[in-house]
Amino acid sequence: MKFKSIILVGVLSIAAFFISYKYEDLSLNFANDKGIQEVEEVEPNLILVNKENPLDSDYKPSNLVKPNIPFADSANEEERYMKSESSMAIEELFRSAEQEGIKLLGMSAYRSYDSQKNIYYNRIRSVGKKEADRYVAKPGKSEHQTGFAIDITNEDRWFVKSTEEAQWLAKNAHNYGFILRYPENKEDITGVAYEPWHIRYVGKETAKKIYEEQITFEEFIEN
Ligand SMILES: [Zn+2]
Repeated sequence: MKFKSIILVGVLSIAAFFISYKYEDLSLNFANDKGIQEVEEVEPNLILVNKENPLDSDYKPSNLVKPNIPFADSANEEERYMKSESSMAIEELFRSAEQEGIKLLGMSAYRSYDSQKNIYYNRIRSVGKKEADRYVAKPGKSEHQTGFAIDITNEDRWFVKSTEEAQWLAKNAHNYGFILRYPENKEDITGVAYEPWHIRYVGKETAKKIYEEQITFEEFIEN
């Protein structure tokens, strides 16, 4: 009888362990929005990264290369890399701009999860969390981690809407496969304030569609 009780307690403990394990698993999934993305599932240049669609902290794109374009002195070594497809496209964009008398500079392209983490916490320290959250993505939620995004600046380091460089970029980026990823008055959709300097490679066909229909990347992906 005593032996049977021991067996029964043992079986019940094992069952309890598995049930609790299962529940822990479920709660983790709930805590994680839609979950971490498996980047390989979609065409890589159409990967959507935003607050609801984060990348894993380990995610590092393959084929990072250094485009042959001028960068601002402040750009560190890592920030001068991009995915090879977008690297060729950005070289083409820079060449055309130059031919039209527009001098652009690369500011920041690829950023690893850890670099984004440093940028985010530094910005919080300087301007506070509320303001930092409008402009700086949390680690894993930045497009720069894909290698398909680049921030552009000009020689004055003053890349606002009214400058001829920003106007040229807004009008021409789609011809090279890039979109202005965070347009004006779309913060409610993109979750990010207007950024005239941040462009993202999506390929020429998609970029043209997004430009002509004046939609965001979020809306393009949804449809
Ligand atoms: Zn950016």
